[in-house]
Parts: sequence; C-alpha cells; structure tokens
Amino acid sequence: MEWTRSETLALAMHNCTQCHGSGLRFAKKGAIAAPCNCVLRAIFRICCDRFVRCVEQERHLSRISLEPHSGRQRPSTWGRKDEEYIADFCLISRRTLDDFEHQLFRYHFLLGADWKLCTRRLGIDRGNFFHAVYRIEQKLGRVFRELEPYSLFPLDEYFHGPARAGGGQALRVGNGPTRVTPRAENLRFPVPYGKTA
Ligand SMILES: [Zn+2]
Repeated sequence: MEWTRSETLALAMHNCTQCHGSGLRFAKKGAIAAPCNCVLRAIFRICCDRFVRCVEQERHLSRISLEPHSGRQRPSTWGRKDEEYIADFCLISRRTLDDFEHQLFRYHFLLGADWKLCTRRLGIDRGNFFHAVYRIEQKLGRVFRELEPYSLFPLDEYFHGPARAGGGQALRVGNGPTRVTPRAENLRFPVPYGKTA
C-alpha cells in the first residue's frame, strides 16, 4: 500500500519534529514516502482504545451485525464484529511482536500495568520500558494499517466494510495453506423470508 498525505495529515502530531505535522517522511529526495512514527503510534492508540471498549462492552452484551456478502448464494451472515475484532487484535499482536515485546504488550496494554510494575516484573529500567512501548506502538500501528487483505485500520472499514467469508482473518496463520474456519451454525444468516433453502 502507498501512504498518502491525505491519510496521514489527520493522524500526525502537529508539533512532531520528524514530519512537522504532515505525517510523512522522505528518506531521500524523490523517494517513496514513509509514514512518520507519530502516525503509526496514533493508529495503534485508536485501535487499542477500540479494543478496550469492545472488551468492556463484551461483558454486558455482544453486538450482532448483518454482514453483506457479494457473489454468493447466501446473501448475508450475522457476525459478532466485536468478538472478531478482539480476536484479531490479540492474534495479530502475538504474530507481530517478539516474545519480550509481547510480554510487555500484555502487561501494559492488555492488563493495564503501569511502568513501575512492568519494569519490576520484566527486569528493565524506565528508559528501556518507554523505548519498548514506542517500538510496540509503531510496529503494530503499521501492521494494523498495512495488513492484507483486510486491515484493522481504518476502523470504519473494518466494522462496516464488506464481509470476510468465514470471519476472523487472524485464523490464517503463517505462510501455510489458508485455513478458513467456517462460521458456527448459530452465527449464520437464516434463510431469508420467502425463499426456501
Ligand atoms: Zn510525525
């Protein structure tokens, strides 16, 4: 994918010393634009906030949404987008980060431990903690946006875009054959009115 200013401008930090608020960086004159780290971190934080909201509302109820399918006999399926998002967020992070980063990611972002607790638990100093947090945010921000065929970000497209046959993409792991787990029977769209199966 190509990063464009129209996308990065809204996400960039206005006072960023690297990109001066444009959200793009050019290694050399004429080189392909790369997203600034401030943009990648912004994407991560937006996705992470949504994750926290999904987890919290999950305790009360799960929103079920109708997902349109194109070019299929079955017109639509009922999907639990929030559950799918929670699973994608966790599995993509597990796949992207190394062991140390993932441990820190779990403590700090998933379990909410502050830097004091994390540094004690992981045996690192405060500087290393914040460096690692930045690294994690940048790595995941990029993957959440660049992931193909379905990116996690922008969230609007994830939650309201075209459906993915079989549900969560995170089920496709590594370079092995694509493994699409069929949707559970109770999540399938019932036969539409006026039609027979
Ligand atoms: Zn920047």
